[in-house]
Amino acid sequence: MLHVGICAGGAWQPASLPRPGKSGAGDVSPVTYATFTDAAVLRARNEIDRIKLLVHEGALPQRRLDQAMAALADAEDDSVLARTLYGSTGVEQLSTEDAKLMVDAAQRRVDRQQAVVEGREELVRDGILSKSEAEPQTQELEMRRRTLDLAKNRSKLQEQLAAMAQTELEMERARGAEAALFATVMIRYDGNGAFHLDDLKTIQAEYEKHFRQQLPVSALGQTFIHQALGFDHHDRVDVALTPDQPEGLWLRHLLERLHIPYIAFRQAVAGSATAPHIHIGIASTRLKVAGR
Ligand SMILES: [Zn+2]
Repeated sequence: MLHVGICAGGAWQPASLPRPGKSGAGDVSPVTYATFTDAAVLRARNEIDRIKLLVHEGALPQRRLDQAMAALADAEDDSVLARTLYGSTGVEQLSTEDAKLMVDAAQRRVDRQQAVVEGREELVRDGILSKSEAEPQTQELEMRRRTLDLAKNRSKLQEQLAAMAQTELEMERARGAEAALFATVMIRYDGNGAFHLDDLKTIQAEYEKHFRQQLPVSALGQTFIHQALGFDHHDRVDVALTPDQPEGLWLRHLLERLHIPYIAFRQAVAGSATAPHIHIGIASTRLKVAGR
């Protein structure tokens, strides 16, 4: 099931994603957070210039320059995360390239901090530092690991969204024998041939009443991913439910009761890249597939 982090009725956000721009009484906007990280990059660059000079004059050891370089790399990676992970952009607006940049940046921040913590642990063993003095660095490492988990989670959601859109696109392109192959993994209900995004509210309310959780909407109308594929998804909604799981079956029955058209995509068959989900609304105007 694809419940994790999916929320209905708006932009996607992993459920437990820390939102520095939205937390606390200060309520700083995400733009300000990105501005903050950009300023940190600038400061780190200036610091390198300053330390380079002092190292050159012999006033500081080379080690200090290495630390400053690591701090700059850290700040640059944080800036990437500000845009791809902490920003106000929903995951459906994230490109595959951005998702990769995001996970790589989070991983590098873990690796760098891991090296710092190992250095501190050595000093603790040698009796130079007390355990409590090394603690903040260990906590920072834990925080960065959690951020990496969130980045991976978000990247996975992005992958799932892209796979769902790709499935619909392949369906649209399928001709002849290929279309027959898709007919075995999809169920199409034409209903009264009409669906508007406004109708979604009723569906969401019914679903929440029944399952006590939000309808896992994965794509609300046209998304960046559909746009990038050149695929019209206006007035259509994708729900991340497998058609044959209890929630999926329930949803299909509700849609049929309301005469709302849908296409349910089942589990992948060998050799095709179908991502199971339920597409609410009419098929794309160019989508020609076999009926049930
Ligand atoms: Zn769809």
